[in-house]
Amino acid sequence: MIKVTNLSKHFGDLVVLKDITTEIRKGEVISVIGPSGTGKSTFLRCLNLLEIPTGGTILIDGIPLLDKHTNVPKIRQKIGMVFQSFNLYAHLSVLENLTIGPVKLLGKNRAEADAKAMELLKMVGLAEKRYSFPDELSGGQKQRVAIARCLAMEPEIMLFDEPTSALDPTMVSEVLSVIRRLSREGMTMIIVTHEMEFARNTSSRVFYMDEGVIYEEGTPVQIFDHPQKEKTQAFINRVRSLNFRIRSRDYDLYALQGEMEVFCEKHLVSKKVTGYVVHIAEELLELQTDFTNIELNLSYSEKDGDVQLVCESTGMPVNPLKEDLLEEDIALKLILGRCKTVDYTYTDGKNILVLKIKGE
Ligand code: ADP
Ligand code: MG
Repeated sequence: MIKVTNLSKHFGDLVVLKDITTEIRKGEVISVIGPSGTGKSTFLRCLNLLEIPTGGTILIDGIPLLDKHTNVPKIRQKIGMVFQSFNLYAHLSVLENLTIGPVKLLGKNRAEADAKAMELLKMVGLAEKRYSFPDELSGGQKQRVAIARCLAMEPEIMLFDEPTSALDPTMVSEVLSVIRRLSREGMTMIIVTHEMEFARNTSSRVFYMDEGVIYEEGTPVQIFDHPQKEKTQAFINRVRSLNFRIRSRDYDLYALQGEMEVFCEKHLVSKKVTGYVVHIAEELLELQTDFTNIELNLSYSEKDGDVQLVCESTGMPVNPLKEDLLEEDIALKLILGRCKTVDYTYTDGKNILVLKIKGE
């Protein structure tokens, strides 16, 4: 359905896309992941000519998009795009946002366009809001309208550029549910996303972009569980863990606990285990003596459901969890009771404590 060969895009001297070659078949759902600035948005924008590629070819259903004889507006209608920032028409009602394109560009009559729009609004759960204006909607609702508006143009391919990045965490799932529904209905989609659980569960293939190319691609299992190349591995490790740096005794405990809770929730760690993790981290920090340079790292193992907490602190060798110190400390005894393993090492001037907390 989409065939990209040797696609490149330069902005002046800046080479953003070097050489992208790939093929996307009908009904595939591709997640595009990677660090920011690696050209993910530029790649999507080239596919519907919001950016003009510097070189290479793009075939959509066999038709060369960059050929000067091609009827570009007609092909572009096959490709819908949903942006991070919704891009709704602020002065039009929800219903009008959905009908303006079909009436003006597809030549539909008003009644036909209204009927289709209502069907789509029902599908995204917003039929009730048809006469509202965009600024009367929440972010999640706006994005669902944006998706419905895109569908009203009857695209064959949908491109999503970080559709949930501008949303409050509470609204992410309502938008992801709509996208998931489209994938079940067989829509061909390319989705740039930072929602790794979503990418894993919804896509047929994952592209990891870096260095101006599709650096590594594979099934979700290949990319998330067995990445082969160094940069992919580093990226996957980073997104699967939470890092917190502490540089003084006055660190922000509440921010740290909040981030840990969000991380645990994202990985479906139970409330009870999350409580242990947060508590253990607090007690562990309580026992530190040197706060000049502490790194906390929280990670989750999909394999056994365990949560791992690593605390690295520079300074003299001290193990705050040493048994003899523990005798009198009831809180710590409890903590150790909840850890599957506790390992202490001292290397390169760093105290390294690795605590494994049992999942459920
Ligand atoms: P990503 O979506 O992966 O974060 P982008 O595709 O947005 O990356 O951007 C890749 C690089 O291209 C960035 O360095 C960005 O600053 C640059 N870039 C993107 N669009 C333009 C533009 N219109 N003009 C100049 N530079 C751009
Ligand atoms: Mg981007």
